[in-house]
Amino acid sequence: MSDPGGSSLNLMRFSYRLLLIGCVSACAPMLPEPQVNLPTPQPQPQAGAPVTTPPPAPQTPPLAAYDQQGFEGWKQGFLARKGGARRADYARELEGLTPDPTVIRLDRNQPEFSKPAGAYVQNAVTPVRIAQAKQRIDRVPWSVVQRFGVPSEILVGVWAQESAFGQVQGDYDVIRSLATLAYDGRRRDWAEGQLKDALDIVVDGRRERAGLKGSWAGAMGQTQFMPDNYLRLGVDQDGDGKVDIWRDDADALASAANLLAQAGWKRGQGWGYEVTLPSGFDYAEAEGPKHNWAYWAAKGVRLAQGGTPNGAEALEEATILLPQGANGPAFLALPNHYVIRRYNNSVSYALAIGLTADGIMGKPGLTKAWPNDPSMTRDQRIGAQRALTQLGYDTQGVDGVIGSNTRAALRRWQIANGRIADGYLTPALADELIRRTN
Ligand code: CA
Repeated sequence: MSDPGGSSLNLMRFSYRLLLIGCVSACAPMLPEPQVNLPTPQPQPQAGAPVTTPPPAPQTPPLAAYDQQGFEGWKQGFLARKGGARRADYARELEGLTPDPTVIRLDRNQPEFSKPAGAYVQNAVTPVRIAQAKQRIDRVPWSVVQRFGVPSEILVGVWAQESAFGQVQGDYDVIRSLATLAYDGRRRDWAEGQLKDALDIVVDGRRERAGLKGSWAGAMGQTQFMPDNYLRLGVDQDGDGKVDIWRDDADALASAANLLAQAGWKRGQGWGYEVTLPSGFDYAEAEGPKHNWAYWAAKGVRLAQGGTPNGAEALEEATILLPQGANGPAFLALPNHYVIRRYNNSVSYALAIGLTADGIMGKPGLTKAWPNDPSMTRDQRIGAQRALTQLGYDTQGVDGVIGSNTRAALRRWQIANGRIADGYLTPALADELIRRTN
């Protein structure tokens, strides 16, 4: 995952969502995702996020390893660059601050293994999680659903993924975390922008400093909003004059609904459907150009549970997704699937939200099982990208992140080699590609 493309609605969350089986995908963003315009946050190791699993934690370097003098130098530069008329206010909030070595360690943590989509989804969408979500469905104010047009089931699904319904929010001092990331410099511009927004939240009296808590990467509250999104999209649903996404469920849920509405949520439509593909389906069409339901139906695509999309959905341009290749479940992804990905640009994340919502509504589970593919090492991912590029199928970079560019390159290689062109990289296929170039 490379640096954030920085676009509007994203929560500027970073990639490498470290996936801990059994945990909630709460928390923190971190490394900006490459290949995507809307960087997604990377949750902390406790987060039950998409695709990756944390490597063994390295030793945290002693605080002394970080140069306080260097930090002070960065601070003066930041105040000069961003302080403006508020320089004295910012200086007061940053007084006596030290960098947090834990934040630097977590930010540099590169996940070693990446897990297949099914492992993430199955961990995130469990009967227990759905039961917990059902119990909380009434916590979504009806006025929020009416105003923003996002169903309560989707909002509760987001709530579950982001913070386990508010139970896992992170307890880091957001200003210290962001100052540390800015000082460390890997993503300085982004971190300084977020830090300025965090300081404004405090200076303007929107939130007291002691309450500005979040993940190590600065994602705050039940919605895990970065400071810019808090300022831009936060909603004071209960009308007490504060946007309290930490303790007030209604404020948090309304803010999440506002983010999705601003990202283009289409009222009256779902996120998508599990589908079955006919034998002879051209897998190269998956994740390719979008088409309406009539097109897909003519190709022999059927909803796995029978029936058809509703009238509005049928008119939408939709994609076929194969998150785990031709052997796994297939999905028709409607525009709202991509809206959910404005929250966190991960197919697995968006599927988890959608399938949680389906479960709350009592829809049956998937008809096709997720294949039990092994995790892939970073060496395998990088090796496969390097091999494809060397073989003439450019992956647009070798970063160990299997994104749409890598999948497109792999599809071209699969077509040229008479394979099923599902663009899905397994560890065995990665090994084969690596062998071919050795
Ligand atoms: Ca409020």
